[in-house]
Amino acid sequence: MTLEDRPPAPDAAGVGLCATCAHARRVTSARRSVFWLCEMAATDPRLTRYPRLPVLRCPGYERATGADEARTGEEPREWRP
Ligand code: SF4
Repeated sequence: MTLEDRPPAPDAAGVGLCATCAHARRVTSARRSVFWLCEMAATDPRLTRYPRLPVLRCPGYERATGADEARTGEEPREWRP
């Protein structure tokens, strides 16, 4: 999974590691509330499906491709003219 298809994450500081993790998926409810789903929790009992934020330490953390761009809201370098 990459973060390239995600919108910028202005709340990344409040989310913690999930904001740049390959196993995280941002979910918006019908009431426009935002949740962070840990997809790795399905196979790793140490993790929680909807972790309490901000996640500051995590044994499952794996940095996603494009994580720097998602954190800053900048476009990936290869897209620049
Ligand atoms: S593995 Fe950890 S950092 Fe990654 S999405 Fe799950 S809870 Fe968040």
